[in-house]
Amino acid sequence: MVEPSAQRAPLLDFDVARQRLLAFAKPPEALESIGLLAANGCVLAKAITSPMDVPAFANSSMDGYAIAPQDPEVRPLRLAVTQRIAAGYEGQALALGQAARIFTGAPVPPGTWAVVPQELVEVNGQEIVIEAPVGAGDYVRAQGEDIRAGHDIVQAGKRLKPADLALAASVGVTHVTTYKPLTVAILLTGDELVEPGTPLGPGQIYNSNRYWLQSLLTELGCEVLDPGIVRDTPEDTRAALAQASQAADVIITCGGVSVGEEDHVRAAVASMGRIDLWQIAMKPGKPLAYGQAEKADFIGLPGNPVSAFVTFMLMGLPFLQQRMGLAPSQLSAQPMTAAFDWPKPDRRREFIRVRQRVQPDGEVVLDRWPNQGSGVMSSVAWADGLVDIAAGQTIKAGDRVPYLSLRDLVDRCP
Ligand code: AMP
Ligand code: MG
Repeated sequence: MVEPSAQRAPLLDFDVARQRLLAFAKPPEALESIGLLAANGCVLAKAITSPMDVPAFANSSMDGYAIAPQDPEVRPLRLAVTQRIAAGYEGQALALGQAARIFTGAPVPPGTWAVVPQELVEVNGQEIVIEAPVGAGDYVRAQGEDIRAGHDIVQAGKRLKPADLALAASVGVTHVTTYKPLTVAILLTGDELVEPGTPLGPGQIYNSNRYWLQSLLTELGCEVLDPGIVRDTPEDTRAALAQASQAADVIITCGGVSVGEEDHVRAAVASMGRIDLWQIAMKPGKPLAYGQAEKADFIGLPGNPVSAFVTFMLMGLPFLQQRMGLAPSQLSAQPMTAAFDWPKPDRRREFIRVRQRVQPDGEVVLDRWPNQGSGVMSSVAWADGLVDIAAGQTIKAGDRVPYLSLRDLVDRCP
């Protein structure tokens, strides 16, 4: 159904739309306690607090001698070696004038003034002689030097990485409290779509959006439901949305969200919930929509692969990050030098696909993919970033332009 009034409605400013969208992204409520090895990539819901000091006991950082000199200033220092302490064993207290042969990681005995590395010690039977200067506490790792009991070692809202799990294990923690992964249903709409592996009939194209969308969501740590291609009828669209809304926290549709007669997604969502945002002043990606289908969040991406990808990265991704309990990635562009012209200004803010190139003099410049058409997935596969071009702006080679790294959008959240 074409809605002439909607077609003429002014487009939403990109930043305003992004802010409004993020205001809808409620952090998750459901928590689960899971074993460390199952927690990689999960989002931490409660900070990990260390129940112990690390090191748990003061210990030697060298193979050498723990010493308790009468007067640490005299030279040579002469001490009687009264015991031997290997890692994993505990020694006896040192009396003044005594020393303990000690090894790396072994607990220093009570009364230790410092540890002296064996290279600096002359051994005469049961006596050691030290000429080198020694400072109080040298080569002793103090108890709690790395971590104090009761301190948070990993903050809530962090996506757990392998090193975080090792850190938790190093203080004896076995389980962590994480958010339940977000379940995201993807509905790829279009009568023209077929899956790779099937020969194309007349007018058909391959369902390429499924492949980046499903892969990116999996990489983000979402559980993906992908019930298959949705045909362009109001009934099929509604049925697919109704089914997805039962099982998913978020439904992402692709295609069918413009103003054509074959675009049924918005009407179907509106019939089972509401549409909050639609039509953004961005290029590519104008038809992006957000709303609610029953209890599920709904994000409607355009069908054109480049438009869908760009709107997902700039809008859908931060929404999902926040919805997962992460901080949403910021659009922190860095200024870089364009090696291309962009002579035709647009009324919408544009995001064009670019890639860094190191010149022979070491300067990094940006090339752009020659065909910035919204159906050309080659530009996305080639690009490592986007240049954010304000409405009405042109670019000349040599200009400094705002560059957004695609990798950072995915990775640069805590
Ligand atoms: P639509 O928004 O449904 O009008 O789709 C816009 C364009 O994107 C059309 O040329 C569609 O064929 C194409 N398209 C839609 N969905 C996909 C998909 N999953 N994979 C590849 N191209 C698509
Ligand atoms: Mg379509």
